[in-house]
Parts: sequence; structure tokens; C-alpha cells
Amino acid sequence: MSSSPIRPISADAVDTWDFEADVVIAGFGIAGVSAAIGAAESGADVLVLERTSGGGGAAALSGGIVYLGGGTRVQKACGFDDTPENMKTFLAEALGPGVDEDKLDVYCEGSVQHFEWLEACGVQYKESFWSQPGWECPVDDSLMYSGGENAAPFHTLVPPAPRGHLAQVPMPRNGEQGAGHVLMTTLLAKADDLGVRVESDIRVQRLVTDHTGRVVGVSATRFGKEITVRARGGVVLATGSFAYNDEMMQAYAPRLYKRPAATVEEHDGRAILMAQALGAGLAHMDACEVAFFCDPQLIARGILVNGRGQRYVPEDTYPGRIGHLTMYQNDNQAFLVLDEDAYEEGMAAPSSSPQLRRQPTWVCESVAELEAEMGLPEGSLTSTVELYNRHAADGADPVLGKKSEWVKPIGSPIAAIDLRGMTGGFTLGGLRTSVHSEVLHVDGDPIPGLYAAGRCTSGLSAGGYCSGISLGDGSFFGRRAGIRAAAG
Ligand SMILES: Cc1cc2nc3c(=O)[nH]c(=O)nc-3n(C[C@H](O)[C@H](O)[C@H](O)COP(=O)(O)OP(=O)(O)OC[C@H]3O[C@@H](n4cnc5c(N)ncnc54)[C@H](O)[C@@H]3O)c2cc1C
Repeated sequence: MSSSPIRPISADAVDTWDFEADVVIAGFGIAGVSAAIGAAESGADVLVLERTSGGGGAAALSGGIVYLGGGTRVQKACGFDDTPENMKTFLAEALGPGVDEDKLDVYCEGSVQHFEWLEACGVQYKESFWSQPGWECPVDDSLMYSGGENAAPFHTLVPPAPRGHLAQVPMPRNGEQGAGHVLMTTLLAKADDLGVRVESDIRVQRLVTDHTGRVVGVSATRFGKEITVRARGGVVLATGSFAYNDEMMQAYAPRLYKRPAATVEEHDGRAILMAQALGAGLAHMDACEVAFFCDPQLIARGILVNGRGQRYVPEDTYPGRIGHLTMYQNDNQAFLVLDEDAYEEGMAAPSSSPQLRRQPTWVCESVAELEAEMGLPEGSLTSTVELYNRHAADGADPVLGKKSEWVKPIGSPIAAIDLRGMTGGFTLGGLRTSVHSEVLHVDGDPIPGLYAAGRCTSGLSAGGYCSGISLGDGSFFGRRAGIRAAAG
């Protein structure tokens, strides 16, 4: 499965160590920088090894949504009541079934404190709420819905609260300064202030263990030269997902094979393999974030039908949930059907993803004509639209529960946008870790000296996803990894 040797090296075989620190961290994205700050704040001497020429990882390119709640300052200022219990109830439904209850507990209980920690690191949040459907936020607001909390079926479970927190971005927005970029430059600067050392262009390849089996360092390559790095306290793995490892994708997440999105090529699964070679267990390897490549401002104003002409999701929900249901339950077949007025309105609405606005594939005068042109089974789309329109006349959607503000009868001319195969994403499964980010052996015990966080681990998701969970659990459990590793 691996092109270069992956099994651990014995420390006895190491003649000289090229570098040494209390805590050695592989990867300088969101999990790595949070681990570095956590360890340095605990008084450790910290060294980060980063494969590229600088820190940031996928996180610096990201939308920067961090999933936090339970009553943060920004939630309160924007008028939303939230509690750790409500947050937990929602996430257990949205990310499950099979979520790690212990992790979910500490995450929800510690969420307000984690928000305050990010603020103490220098991340600035504005007390303003972005209310529009979207993948991200196109202005400088710091709070948005990012998981379908305010849509069916979740909005009746607990009172909806937005939990997507975004670092305030400079206005007017420029392409390079999204909330992910702002979040990461702030955290990287904080690590630098704390004296964290960084060695770039180093690709961590294998773990080094002592005669007791404890992890005491790593072996890596730098421009083809092998180097060894000693960790007096512990090693933290934070190198990202396996979205770009073809063999692992075929084995664990075949539906997303060759469909990576919202990730970077450095996510090659190496840390997972390195730890597996030492006996580490895995969890939820099939869990994925699934992006759906269409502007949510258009989706909410139409109806989404599958290859049988039937609706399958309330169109005003989180677009990642739409992607998930499309890919996993509807053979990746989706068509957005809407009339001219709805299309024009959606195209004119403020959008965080104008590149995902799409031209209609078919435009017709009647539903029957459209159905025929799309090649759908005769009567399928006609009966779907007839049923939708019957209730839409009263502003209701009893079939799937789309909120009345988005429900209007579909008139003529009527169009459909072909969205078949318009999905992609990244993996959420990985190393099984404890709530303290210790990597767990297949026997359930922590592997001494080895910690991990971010997308090389199984974090909060057991299958479902909400935007902000990856930066959320990456930073939360990354920080914990650093603190624990610093304690030796
Ligand atoms: C366009 C886009 C939008 C996104 N939006 C969001 C969002 O709004 N909210 C959200 O929660 N998530 C979002 N994500 C996903 C999120 O950014 C990632 O899932 C998250 O950054 C993963 O954290 P990580 O620390 O595991 O990996 P990263 O942040 O990618 O960091 C991993 C680091 O490890 C380095 N590395 C890899 N291999 C090695 C090695 N062998 N040795 C040393 N270093 C190595 C990499 O170069 C990288 O710097 C988005 C991603 C993209 C690309």
C-alpha cells in the first residue's frame, strides 16, 4: 500500500538526531498549529515539521468556518440562545449514527471556552449574522448556519442556533483574504510569538520507537535526504486526510475516489499508515464531507429531483447534506427544477459562491415537455411538480418540510439544471484517538508518546458533516494533543 518503507524504526538504529524538541508536530495546518500553541502555552519546547515551504495547509485555503456553540459571545450578541445540550443533540443526529459520544461531550461542553481561546490567540470575530443560504459568507459577518440546523428535519429537534463562526475578514473582500486565510495567519503568528520552531520542506515518513514501544521521534525526508528528529515528550501527527491516496480511497471511501474537493494534494494518508504500522486502530474511514457544486441561492428557490423525477431533500437545508444524500442515496443523480422568476431571483441574490451559479440545461413551456427533454420516466416529474405546487399555493411543503419562505408554486417557463455527478469532497475518518488525542492501539490502549488530530484522525463525524466541523475538531483536539504531549 505504501511506496516507501513505513514500519517504525528502532531508536537504537539512530546514530545522530538532526533535530530535537519536547513536542514534535508533523504538519502545520489547523490541527498542527493548534497543537503547537497548546504545547508551547504548556511550557514545552515545540518543533513543527512541515512538508511544504510554509504553514497553512488546506485550512489557509478554506472558508474558515469553525463549528462552535453552546452560547458563544457572538451567538449571544446576534440574539441566539444556545446550550451545550442542544448543540450535542443536533450534532449527534447530523453527524451520526455512531458518533464518539465522549468526544462529542467534551467538544460541546468545551466549545465556548474554545471560542474564547481562539479569541485570546488573536482571532477577531464580528458580532453580526449572515442569514442567507450559502456555502460560506461573502461579507465580513462572523456567524452563519452551516449544518441545516434551521431546516427540516433538524429544526424541530432543538431550537435552531447558527454555529458556523468565521474570523472577521477585511472589507472589501479580496480573494486571498478569506476567513480561513485570516484564521490561519493569526494562529501561525501566535505560534511564532510563543517561540514555536518550524522546519519546512520536511516530509515525515516513519515513526521512531524505543525498546518499550514508546514513540520517541520521527524519520523524515528533506529534498531526498533522510533526517531523524527526537521527541522528548511526544509526537503529534497532523498531516491531513487520505483524500489523495488512491489505494486508500478505493478501499475505504470508494464513492469519492478521484473526486477530491476542499482538500489539498498533501493529504496522502501517510500519518494514518505510519501509525497503523505501529498497531493503531481506525474509525469511520467511510465518513466524508460531500460538496454539491451549485449555488445554494439557486437550490433553495427550486426543487431538486433525482433520476426518477422525485424530490429527496428539503432544498433550503445545508448544501453538504444535499451533497451527501445525492451521492450516497440517489446514485449521484440530481436535477434542479425552477421557473424563470425563481432563477432570476437566485442569480441576483448575494452569493458566497458565484462560480457555482449555473445556466439552465433545458428550458420549456410546460413540465411535460421538460420531463420528456430530460429523459425522465413519463409522468414522474409532472406528478412531483403537481404535488409540490398543490401545497406551495398555501406556502407549505408537507412532503419534505422546506420552510414557507422558500416555497412558491413553480410556473412557466420552467427550466432544469443538470447536476448529475456534481459532487466531490474529503474524508473524515482516520486514526482512532481518545478525548486527549492519544492515538489508540487496536487493543484500545493509548500508544505511548503518540498523539494525533485533524483529518488524519476520526474526529466528530461518524458519517454526516456540518461546515466547520473539520476546522472545529482539528483545532479543538489539536490543542488537546499539544497539551497532552507537553505533559509527556
Ligand atoms: C476550499 C476549502 C474550503 C474549506 N472550508 C472549510 C470550512 O469552512 N470549515 C471547515 O471546517 N473546513 C473547511 N475545509 C476543510 C479544512 O480546511 C480541512 O479539512 C482541514 O484544514 C484539515 O485540517 P488538518 O490540520 O488535518 O489538515 P491541513 O490543515 O491541511 O494541514 C495539514 C498539513 O500537513 C502537511 N503535511 C502533509 N503531509 C505531511 C508530511 N508527511 N510531513 C509533514 N507535513 C505534512 C500539509 O502540507 C499541511 O500543511 C475547507 C477546505 C478547502 C480546501
